[in-house]
Amino acid sequence: MNAPVRGARAVSLRLNKAHYPVTVLGYGRRIGVWFQGCGIHCKACVSQDTWDADGGAAVSVADLLGWCRQKASAGVDGVTLSGGEPFDQPRALGALLDGLARWRQRARLSLDLLCYSGYPLKTLRAHHAALLQKLDALIPEPYVDALPEGGSWRGSANQPLVPLSPLGEQRYGGYGGDAGNAGEKGAKTLQIAVEDGRIWMIGIPARGDMAALERLCAERGLRLDQVSWRR
Ligand code: SF4
Repeated sequence: MNAPVRGARAVSLRLNKAHYPVTVLGYGRRIGVWFQGCGIHCKACVSQDTWDADGGAAVSVADLLGWCRQKASAGVDGVTLSGGEPFDQPRALGALLDGLARWRQRARLSLDLLCYSGYPLKTLRAHHAALLQKLDALIPEPYVDALPEGGSWRGSANQPLVPLSPLGEQRYGGYGGDAGNAGEKGAKTLQIAVEDGRIWMIGIPARGDMAALERLCAERGLRLDQVSWRR
């Protein structure tokens, strides 16, 4: 989302980034929305640029939905909500999910709503049951660097992929995904985008990928000094 409209119109959301198409975080070809702000601070998080709750930009949910509709004209299978911590902005998350649900119903789109969270599933079920009902699938639990890696859509092995609706079950049951990309069974893949003078990496890196990238850049005389995986 290159030119977000600042300020609130009805409900406001603190946004780190929005991107289309995202092909490495869920089923098929997707819209990605990264919420700004995360107080969980997992060790070795690669998205530390999303931690500051005052960072990013304030956008109205209505404008964000308009941007999604505009992008979807090229074809969309789902929306991935990540961050940052989407559940730290429950009002904005709820308004966005309601708007996306209305849109897919009116436009008769078969798009799934997949959300990442660093909170335990038990906590989310206890405090955000109404939000979970609006989702098709959820990847909860904090990233734990000491555990083995998760599949291509998940950082560490403790993070399950939880279907929450019939569509979620169809697309993510058994950690599947059967069209448009290799699903969870594929290798970890990163997308690279260059926007506003910054290089964005989208996806879940394998362990050591960031260090390898820095090494390769250094060998070519390029030093990376402002990176999201280090503060
Ligand atoms: S991995 Fe996710 S939940 Fe953990 S600190 Fe990073 S953004 Fe927050």
